[in-house]
Amino acid sequence: MPSWYAPTLKHRSVGTADPQQPVDSLKGVGPSLTEKLSRLGVRRLLDLLLHLPLRYQDRSRVVPLRELRAEQECLVQGQIVEVRIAYGRRRSLVVTLEDETGYLNWRLFYFSSSQQKALKPGMFVQCFGQARFGREGLEMIHPEYRLFSTPPPLPDAELTPVYPATKGLGQGRLRSLCGQLLALDWPIDDGTPYEDLKFLHHPPAGTSADELKATQARVARDELTAYYLVMRHRQAQRQGIETRPLPPVRQLGRELLKLLGFALTGAQRRVTTEVLEDLSTAKPMLRLLQGDVGSGKTVVAAFAAIRVAEHGMQTALMAPTEILAEQHYLNFTAWLEPLGIRIVLITGSQSAKERKATIEAINSGEALVAVGTHALFQNQVTFKRLALTVVDEQHRFGVHQRMALKDKGSLPHQLVMTATPIPRTLTMALYADMDTSTLDELPAGRQPIETRVVADERRDEVMARIATECRAGRQAYWVCPLIEESDQLNAASVEATLPALKKALPGTRIATLHGRMSSQEKAQTMARFKLGEVEVLLATTVVEVGVDIPNATLMVIENPERLGLSQLHQLRGRVGRGRHKSHCILLYQTPLSESSRQRLQVIRESQDGFYIAEQDLKIRGPGDLLGTRQTGEQQFRIADLREHAHLIDEVVQRGDALLLNDPATAARLLDVWAPDDRHIGV
Ligand code: ADP
Ligand code: MG
Repeated sequence: MPSWYAPTLKHRSVGTADPQQPVDSLKGVGPSLTEKLSRLGVRRLLDLLLHLPLRYQDRSRVVPLRELRAEQECLVQGQIVEVRIAYGRRRSLVVTLEDETGYLNWRLFYFSSSQQKALKPGMFVQCFGQARFGREGLEMIHPEYRLFSTPPPLPDAELTPVYPATKGLGQGRLRSLCGQLLALDWPIDDGTPYEDLKFLHHPPAGTSADELKATQARVARDELTAYYLVMRHRQAQRQGIETRPLPPVRQLGRELLKLLGFALTGAQRRVTTEVLEDLSTAKPMLRLLQGDVGSGKTVVAAFAAIRVAEHGMQTALMAPTEILAEQHYLNFTAWLEPLGIRIVLITGSQSAKERKATIEAINSGEALVAVGTHALFQNQVTFKRLALTVVDEQHRFGVHQRMALKDKGSLPHQLVMTATPIPRTLTMALYADMDTSTLDELPAGRQPIETRVVADERRDEVMARIATECRAGRQAYWVCPLIEESDQLNAASVEATLPALKKALPGTRIATLHGRMSSQEKAQTMARFKLGEVEVLLATTVVEVGVDIPNATLMVIENPERLGLSQLHQLRGRVGRGRHKSHCILLYQTPLSESSRQRLQVIRESQDGFYIAEQDLKIRGPGDLLGTRQTGEQQFRIADLREHAHLIDEVVQRGDALLLNDPATAARLLDVWAPDDRHIGV
């Protein structure tokens, strides 16, 4: 029995679980914990059982110090031989540990005096953490540790689960709660794979990677099928609903064509027609507009908003970041205001007064287009005549999140835009409820972006390159993964790069942009960059989505080996948006691993987002046993599209067959995986 659930079991009578029972039937779950669990989507006992580990830690084996490898996450133990304070760039407490095979230092940057006192030579200690190369060889930074005055007990006999957690609800609590579930008897014949689920909560030590994967895949197949069924269900519901048709009335769109200053591409014309035709019917539109970075999606949305405005109706345009919302606001103002259409911007960082006026304009129906971030969803915002919602860069919001804005009237049409190239097989299942349009053509006159992969040692040449670009009147981005230097991550930071850039480029106007600046500062910096007052924008990946400055022609990305291919493609897409030749430099840190080299090669050789996404999926392959699923944005509870894409064909077939021949099983799958989605419709 793993150590993490032993304490709870003492209080718990073992009984039969009713999967539908609310979680507060578990011991120690009160209102506050119930609320935190609901943030993780956990309401019933079944939901908690479906709250599966993201990955596992192997604390089942003590690794002898001599066998320790860098990057390996493992359990070590030994006796403390020395404790000292080191004064480097930052003060730290260094503890030296010894076992029969060797030594290991571990380091604490944050420590209390009582901690320091307790760490005495001669004490036994068990540490769990990741070893890395430090200045004095392998070391562990802030490992989890436990002290003992006698030799430590045997390690756990099972792998330790690492769960998706939330603020105020950490691993310890989740482990003990899930531990309670495992002690219960679950129904045997209702078709839910309880045994597989239990196994995934506590696989025994020594479980093979294949066995774990096979079990995960069985469960993922159910989850994906349920998701597909939800999509089909919504599609059927939507077909039964009527909304207000918006046929052409004043041909205002023609005015915009004159204003634009460029001719639409064939793809833009085709897709705009598709969208406008949808709007003309009484069936609520739900259309996914896919188009690679720079393909010109925004203007398609503008034509749709104009059609809606011709009817005196409203459009909500939602963007994932304030920078992007601001930019859309400026574009729409330039395009639509000359046509007499009033536009407002709503973001989280406006003053109360500004926001009040904006909300009034939306609620009264006076503003015909509202551009905003999540702030559009505030309670006070109630559109008077909402007829269209546009969601830009939808992948940033997560697959599950379908937007439902408040409106007094009928169901709005929806246009969902994304630059994330979703491999075609996946689209079929993920967006089974949507019609799709694709912008498969870039505006004329675009020249391909030339991409170079350059080692960090040649940073000076790269800086010189920037100088050349600026002298020619162009602008550049320089992207670093970090805001400030980190002891844990060996990667470039905005703070450390700024003085180096200033020194190398005297007289060049450089500004920084990162997530720790206020929205106002960010907006001002972007505006100055847009106007050309800033020549080099030194930023974190906040500039990843949507930012459109056609005069910027050079993109330098530091530590590209740390970023995903699609992310690199998005970042690179910030340049090559105008008529000037653009370049992208991937400034990697040596040494580069073989797989990183391959990945960067893909970016260098291709500019096709779909191809890049497919390669990414292939190269990253099925992942490794103890970290198959990455943390970060969680779209499914167990399914991971990198891992389970091959299941999609089967899932679609199975889903269709269930709908036709076995509605009871379909209903059960929905009830298990998506109890809420069943009822919200549309
Ligand atoms: P994305 O699809 O990445 O959102 P945008 O809508 O931001 O692309 O468009 C990228 C840039 O191309 C913008 O500056 C936009 O004004 C411009 N653009 C859009 N369509 C055309 C076109 N047909 N011809 C020339 N430039 C265009
Ligand atoms: Mg865009």
